[in-house]
Amino acid sequence: MLTVKQRPLMVDVIPHNRPLITPEDEQAVLAVLKSGHIAQGPEVEGLEADFVTMMGDGGACALSSGSASLFLALYGMGIGKGQKVAVPTYACSALLNAVYMSGGIPNVIDVTEDTFVLDLDRIDDQAPEAAAAIVVHCFGASADVKNLRDRGILVVEDCCHSIGGSPGRDGDVSVYSFHATKTITGGSGGLVWARSGKISEQIVDFRQHDCREKYIPRFNFQMSDIQAAMIRSQLSRLDEIASRRKHIYDLYKNALPEFLSVQVGLSGPSITPYRFVVQTEDQETRDRLQGHMSRHGVTTIVPIERYELLHRYLGLDAEAYPNAEKIVDTTLSLPLFPGLSDSEIDRILVALSNIQ
Ligand SMILES: *Cc1c(COP(=O)(O)O)cnc(C)c1O
Repeated sequence: MLTVKQRPLMVDVIPHNRPLITPEDEQAVLAVLKSGHIAQGPEVEGLEADFVTMMGDGGACALSSGSASLFLALYGMGIGKGQKVAVPTYACSALLNAVYMSGGIPNVIDVTEDTFVLDLDRIDDQAPEAAAAIVVHCFGASADVKNLRDRGILVVEDCCHSIGGSPGRDGDVSVYSFHATKTITGGSGGLVWARSGKISEQIVDFRQHDCREKYIPRFNFQMSDIQAAMIRSQLSRLDEIASRRKHIYDLYKNALPEFLSVQVGLSGPSITPYRFVVQTEDQETRDRLQGHMSRHGVTTIVPIERYELLHRYLGLDAEAYPNAEKIVDTTLSLPLFPGLSDSEIDRILVALSNIQ
């Protein structure tokens, strides 16, 4: 007879992220399914109106993804062939894709070593002729958009990590993503908000690809009403979601041992942390920390790996990007999402307090 001498440890592993979908979200989606109108329609229009209300003015255009939104933000601002667009190297490839789609040329800039956002001191040597910039509020930490605009640079604020609060109001255009891992989700989706109604009209025109009297190349980047209904339902809880994120962030920060630091720029009343990124002295400490968390059943990720840095993709000289090159070796992201249960949070706090 088979006897089990030792029961395996059956502690559930805490994932790095998990979408929080409430019965209200399910009802909102179900109502669209039952309505008979599931393509782009009244819910998409409603989402755009919600955004204009949230931002206080301007115009909004909902789209199929954050990537499509970055591209159309550049298009709407009139960025085209041969124009230079500054982008931070510590960001996802969606930024490069958008610049190339628009016909522009990316100018890749290093980031600051503690906030991970575009380093304004590098503009003069790394993007002296930039007509526009895509600025990422990295993991929720704000970049100084006003400074760029004062230099006469058109600014796309990439708010894919920073929906709500103060980010997104200083640039010419703001871009959002509703991908599954973002603060608000509809599975996928994106949106452009523009201060100028003229820019958002250009983007709305591009999206309306079919049945147009006068032909110019456009494209189907539409969002469905199924997605829009879920996104609107989540957006109506944004305050609740943001305060839960802030609460978890503060708990982790207080439990973190002194020899570890956390990304700078994520505290403050109008900031919602998207990630809790620990910064270690060196790669060995980071890897040990990842092993420690894993033994406690906590999934962590390296938020951006070295090979993903945009200057690496373009084969540029790595020595010109010392801060980003250091960040990829010394950072680790902990689970920070509103669907974490109190007992999961407690387990993460215990793991943090046991770090040696
Ligand atoms: C997610 C993300 C994007 C791309 O959005 P998709 O909806 O995945 O296309 C762009 N920029 C940043 C900073 C993101 O986090």
